[in-house]
Amino acid sequence: MAAPSYAPGMELSGSSALVTGGASGIGAAAARQLAARGCTVVVADLQADRGEALAEEIKGVFAQVDVTSTEQITGAVRAAAEIAPLRAVVNSAGIGWAQRTIGRDGQLESAHSLEAFTKVIAINLIGTFDVVRQAATVMSGNEPDADGCRGAIVNLASVAAFDGQIGQASYSASKGGVVGMTLPVARDLSAAGIRLNTVAPGLIDTPIYGEGPESEAFKAKLGESVLFPKRLGVPDELASMVLECLTNSYMNGEVVRLDGGIRMPPK
Ligand code: NAD
Repeated sequence: MAAPSYAPGMELSGSSALVTGGASGIGAAAARQLAARGCTVVVADLQADRGEALAEEIKGVFAQVDVTSTEQITGAVRAAAEIAPLRAVVNSAGIGWAQRTIGRDGQLESAHSLEAFTKVIAINLIGTFDVVRQAATVMSGNEPDADGCRGAIVNLASVAAFDGQIGQASYSASKGGVVGMTLPVARDLSAAGIRLNTVAPGLIDTPIYGEGPESEAFKAKLGESVLFPKRLGVPDELASMVLECLTNSYMNGEVVRLDGGIRMPPK
């Protein structure tokens, strides 16, 4: 195939998109930006109230999905593909959960239960892989664009994959898994004309840190640990990178840190 003489980018207009975790934070910002590019977005999330409101705002569709349910993922992927060819997927569903590996009192039981560890891995890592696998199967049936591309996927990892903090074993393990699968999965999917990239955010101002005055104070303190600028990131800054990864035809198998240069000192 001859190389194009300009950077065409993947066209999103007239396609459908699936955004897990789309009801809130980074996922909601990505859903809005995808809709602005002409996609019909399936907002897939546990949270029905926020998800339905956003779907109405962006003229998309809400699907109540728990990413630990293979059947519910199947339903959301099908719903998207029935609207229009599914060409963009964003895996933003995730939970943060701080637990120590052993308690401050030295007792294993007061800290990191195996049940909690398993839940974080199930949502953040296995849920992400399941969406990728199911979406890619459907995308592989799309008509290729001029570059032979049939679709693109972006997973959300975290700087916690590289700079794990005290009490973050499950979260860091889950996000390390998302980083680790980026290249092998991108290699697998390239054969089907699908690109896959990962965005690893630093500290972003979203409801993942809770809501209300207490969390506002906590987030203000967190912002001081960012190298520059000294503030939390805003969801649209992350969503813009997600959109770049989706549409830049030459971006594949990449892990992009977006974190204000943060290298967090131990808490
Ligand atoms: P958020 O809490 O605002 O949004 C996450 C969404 O995922 C919520 O709407 C929630 O309902 C949904 N969700 C949770 N469990 C789910 C499940 N089992 N099935 C379906 N949906 C589920 O958080 P956010 O900050 O926008 O985070 C988005 C992604 O970015 C997450 O994967 C998170 O780990 C990652 N991240 C966030 C930050 C940050 O500082 N905000 C930093 C690094 C990585």
